Amino acid sequence: MSDDFYDIYAIKYGHHDRQSRENYIGGDAHDVLQPLDFYVWAIVGPHGTFVVDTGFDEAMAKRRSRNIVKPVSEGLKAIGIMPDSIKDVIVSHLHYDHTGNYELFPNARYHLQDAEMAYATGRCMCHGYLRLPFEVDDVVAMVKKLFAGRVRFHDGVDEIAPGITVHKIGGHSKGLQCVRVKTRRGHVVIASDTAHLYPHLEEGRVFPITYNVGDVLEGYETLKKLATSINHIVPGHDPAVLVRYPAAKPGLEGWVVRLDAEPKLSA
Ligand SMILES: [Zn+2]
Ligand SMILES: [Zn+2]
Repeated sequence: MSDDFYDIYAIKYGHHDRQSRENYIGGDAHDVLQPLDFYVWAIVGPHGTFVVDTGFDEAMAKRRSRNIVKPVSEGLKAIGIMPDSIKDVIVSHLHYDHTGNYELFPNARYHLQDAEMAYATGRCMCHGYLRLPFEVDDVVAMVKKLFAGRVRFHDGVDEIAPGITVHKIGGHSKGLQCVRVKTRRGHVVIASDTAHLYPHLEEGRVFPITYNVGDVLEGYETLKKLATSINHIVPGHDPAVLVRYPAAKPGLEGWVVRLDAEPKLSA
């Protein structure tokens, strides 16, 4: 249908100060503070409300020395979304910052790539380096959901609802997927960790946590094909997202923004 348009929200829940050299393979010539923000996303439209990723909770923030700015549940409620009303959660990948809070959506089924579950439960996890961004409790929680009949697997490209598709990109994590959403301004791509920060996408640079560098770089090209323009790609951890896009409503500035709105692109 031509009117399958959705509203999309980016909801910040966490923050982590770090130096720019930590954000790129090969470091950074201008070694300056370049923090990461942590987000979940909500897609609201004619076929329901869909949540992309589930963030982490206070206990995990302490364990990983990250800061919770506002819990995920508060961000959702600020735009009128009750977590127990959610029927579908799309999980971009199983890293700790995208798949915690696993009791928050008791009535949801979880959409995941085959390759991500295989990766997080297979031989690559024999290696400490590759295990680093995963938490065993998160992975076990997803396996439990699988056995409770609450996981839907996708392999490559698939439709979640009319106007919402998932696309396996891999690279940063073997089964990482992005989400393409039809909006009034065109097709917006929620990149999640297929592009952490704008410079990764715009300058072809690579975040250090990576399974396959080639797939990361090819992934940037896929994102550009999927989105109506490069300004329709929303990176997964860039604080600039909150500056470029307008607040969802007055009072939510710097916390919840509308991604289906035109971004401000002034330098
Ligand atoms: Zn990740
Ligand atoms: Zn991440």
